Amino acid sequence: LPLSDHLLEFYIGGKWVAPTPLTAAADDETTTTTNSSSFQTMNVINPSTEESIATIALGSLADTNAAVQAARDALSTWSQQTSIPERIALVEQLLHIYDQRQEEMAQLISAEMGAPLDFAREAQVGSGLYHIEQFLQAMEYFEPEKLLPGVIMHDNDNENNPTTLIFQEPVGVVALITPWNWPMNQVTLKVIPALLVGCTCILKPSEVAPLSSLLFAEMIHQAGFPPGVFNLVNGDGVGVGTQLSSHMHVDMISFTGSTRAGKLISQAAALSNLKKTSLELGGKGANIIFADIVDDGLQDIVKAGVWSCFDNSGQSCNAPTRMLVERSIYDTAIQIANDTIHGDDIVFRPAHHEGDFYGPVSSRVQYERVQRYIQLGMDEGATLVAGGLGRPDGVTRGYFVRPTIFADVTPDMTIMQEEIFGPVLSIMPFDTEEEALEIANGTPYGLSNYFYTRDKSRRRRLAKSLKSGMVEINGIGADEGAPFAAVRASGNGREGGLYGLEDFCVIKVVSGM
Ligand code: NAD
Repeated sequence: LPLSDHLLEFYIGGKWVAPTPLTAAADDETTTTTNSSSFQTMNVINPSTEESIATIALGSLADTNAAVQAARDALSTWSQQTSIPERIALVEQLLHIYDQRQEEMAQLISAEMGAPLDFAREAQVGSGLYHIEQFLQAMEYFEPEKLLPGVIMHDNDNENNPTTLIFQEPVGVVALITPWNWPMNQVTLKVIPALLVGCTCILKPSEVAPLSSLLFAEMIHQAGFPPGVFNLVNGDGVGVGTQLSSHMHVDMISFTGSTRAGKLISQAAALSNLKKTSLELGGKGANIIFADIVDDGLQDIVKAGVWSCFDNSGQSCNAPTRMLVERSIYDTAIQIANDTIHGDDIVFRPAHHEGDFYGPVSSRVQYERVQRYIQLGMDEGATLVAGGLGRPDGVTRGYFVRPTIFADVTPDMTIMQEEIFGPVLSIMPFDTEEEALEIANGTPYGLSNYFYTRDKSRRRRLAKSLKSGMVEINGIGADEGAPFAAVRASGNGREGGLYGLEDFCVIKVVSGM
């Protein structure tokens, strides 16, 4: 594996530094002693083999403080004295390096979170490349200063001309906390816009998948960014995560992860210095299939729905995990879903293999969580159509889960209400549009919903009444540069493209200049 030389270090102020030694009193059994200094460490486990592939250092409050200080020291030069073209040039250099080191990145992501290597190359690493390019394009539309929209201009008498300007200024020092499921997707969605608009940042990647971020930090260094504009401290949520969200000198937290952690972060942000928060949290997407679409190929629609739920071993926040099918085509849809799983002869392999196969979920915790939900589905009376408990037949090692389909679920079942974050699809029938809408909106989440219909007026009606940040109709994905948007318990995020850049800004109203 192309492991970093800096596994036991953090990237602070443009240098790789050893963790601050803990005092003897703070030692516990997870503390490693190297020479005379001691710090906490954690093993990174390969989910395909259940073996440790690396040991990383976990930061302490002293390390968090050092990183925040470095970001603060770098802020005024980076935000005010470095021009936008200079920042763009550095990100272009990073893009070039990221492009050249794609294979290393793919191998690390595949090993740390279990994405099959080819999928890691195309989708996982590819998403990072895509976002860096997208943000560079969006910078063409980013206006650090603009006239108040809709302002009424008086005559040419300069004295009385209301020249109200809106400055979009970088919010300041931002802390970026990311999950393990799409590591470079999340990291680039945060680091790149933060740096482009002039923020300085501290990245705390997921402790489950930190290896790709260490490589990313090496790339930042190689690209020649000034010291302190990007810092990385590894750590867990309770430690570095909490320290960053409650830090008095952090101006914003951009977080992607669970709703549970998002609430704690919001609370810590509010109770410390009321810092800005941007939250991309869990989801429970509905995929509503109306019978009027049947001539457009029900087979393909259901198959696509099944695979978008099972993609990345079911570990995507926008996965369509609830398939709602109009009653007249319900039995056929279940048959197709079942055939999809059995007919595709799913192959399970350790993630480092080449080719098309199914990988494990990311960790033991995640494996056990998914097992618990499958058990709950059966206990609460859903019909198990495919998959089920335990590892797939013939697999003896690794956190492999059987892609599972439940039918005849009801909206109040736990598997229809809570985010499972594994390959588990629930299917149920509906009779009317109103009923489908009520079920779709009937969870606390609001990330993405999907529906299929030929009826144009229904498209508009549903697009307006679905409570989610994103709505996808008839399998047509959003155009490049569209934000990844969330509402309700899915957060308030709007990452990607121009919206994603502006999210790292505050506005200042200036009149009379
Ligand atoms: P998680 O919330 O357990 O952890 C995410 C990150 O937050 C990690 O870096 C973790 O160390 C940190 N963290 C945990 N508790 C914290 C706390 N109290 N304070 C500060 N930081 C804390 O989530 P996960 O298991 O890594 O990721 C899966 C979750 O992420 C799922 O719920 C999924 O839906 C969500 N997700 C959302 C999006 C989106 O864009 N909406 C995208 C990907 C993943």
